Amino acid sequence: MIKHFNKVLVANRGEIAIRVFRACKELGIQTIAIYSEEDKYALFRLRADESYLIGKKKKPIEVYLGMEEIIDLAVRKGADAIHPGYGFLSENPEFAQKCFEAGIEFIGPSVHSMVNMGDKIKSKLLAHKVGVPTVPGIDKPMQSVREAILFAEDYGYPVILKAAAGGGGRGMRVVYSQKDLEREFYSAQNESRKAFGIDEIFIEKYLDRPKHIEVQILADKHGQIVHLYERDCSIQRRHQKILEFAPAIAISAALRERLCNDALKIARAAEYINAGTIEFLVDKNENHYFIEMNPRIQVEHTITEMITGIDIVQSQVLIAQGYPLDSPEIGIPSQESVDLRGYSIQCRITTEDPLANFAPDTGKIETYRTSSGFGIRLDGGNGYTGSTISPYYDSLLVKIISWSRTFENATRKAIRSIKEINIKGVKTNEAFLINVLNHERFLSGECDTHFIDDTPELFD
Ligand code: ADP
Repeated sequence: MIKHFNKVLVANRGEIAIRVFRACKELGIQTIAIYSEEDKYALFRLRADESYLIGKKKKPIEVYLGMEEIIDLAVRKGADAIHPGYGFLSENPEFAQKCFEAGIEFIGPSVHSMVNMGDKIKSKLLAHKVGVPTVPGIDKPMQSVREAILFAEDYGYPVILKAAAGGGGRGMRVVYSQKDLEREFYSAQNESRKAFGIDEIFIEKYLDRPKHIEVQILADKHGQIVHLYERDCSIQRRHQKILEFAPAIAISAALRERLCNDALKIARAAEYINAGTIEFLVDKNENHYFIEMNPRIQVEHTITEMITGIDIVQSQVLIAQGYPLDSPEIGIPSQESVDLRGYSIQCRITTEDPLANFAPDTGKIETYRTSSGFGIRLDGGNGYTGSTISPYYDSLLVKIISWSRTFENATRKAIRSIKEINIKGVKTNEAFLINVLNHERFLSGECDTHFIDDTPELFD
């Protein structure tokens, strides 16, 4: 049964809020923005049909985490659904449950499958059940440092400690020798408790210079599911993504098939609905290991849209209304109908200074000139001439997404576009990104997750 949405509230800010407003408008759906006092002059709220200031006495971050206030507003303003974007409440099953109780559709997976995939440990256990390989580790919360020491003795250093509830690199520690293990164990526990309110941590072997490759999937409420192939997100700093491309180049067809099939297996086992991403690490011998599933739209969904021609955010909204994948509205009658065309690269332009250890910069943007032309898409947030970059939120300013029939040409287009863009008044990482794109190792598609650490000339 199809439940038409008239109005959608976006419980988020910045570029992803704008991305969702655009998708809703294209579908003929009205949009509601929420914003904090600090975001009073932010562009995203003007992109919605209605916008409301909320969280008046709350800290800037907490405004977008205020479940009751957001749901209450959605009900009062007649929203049929809430899109959570990424970060904030997007992976919170309690929020999804509260939406359900208030008669509001949560645009994302069911509470049941969110709980199923709940945290990194639960999702590894689910992978074991369906025979998908995971990184060797102790896949339960550790009770003592002793357990960690024994594991590291068996498997050898380095090892990685991870918070079961982790995300955004928090609660994660790489440990190279036993003398550091105890200290890092407690510090990972503490960080997890502070960030996620729960101190469950587990341990894994730290793989030597893997690639990070992830598979996008879409599943409807009627049991249909497809994958939209993979993205290579190996260009990272401190385990966080900086630039992504799709499809992964320099991987074998056999590996691609294994990754996509295993992603489908995991999504099915989780009874997953809506858009999701299954993340893997891949070692030099093309062994792949599932690490986690992200039950939400991701920052880098854009490059998959470019190579498949499928609007993932529109699909999310249509799936939530009950449309099957093979409906004319979504238009994906089968896996075979998802075809790949060309190459796409996404560069995250941030207001960070690479020469000062990527410290976020703040202040007024004096000049903001964008870029366009064939093969370039810009998904922007709050940047415009005269806007202010505040210290309260993440430093993503605009995403430059290039597309071309060859990887090399997609790279050239990305470089051309970054050079064309003109941002003055705050520091950005533009020059650094150009150095990455110009590097011969990048062009070969052989970069692993240590590329930035291993390549000091990127900072020249
Ligand atoms: P988060 O959810 O905090 O972003 P992830 O589990 O997704 O953390 O891991 C982020 C990155 O950390 C990976 O892309 C990879 O670079 C690195 N990483 C995580 N686990 C391992 C591992 N076992 N071995 C090597 N690198 C790892």
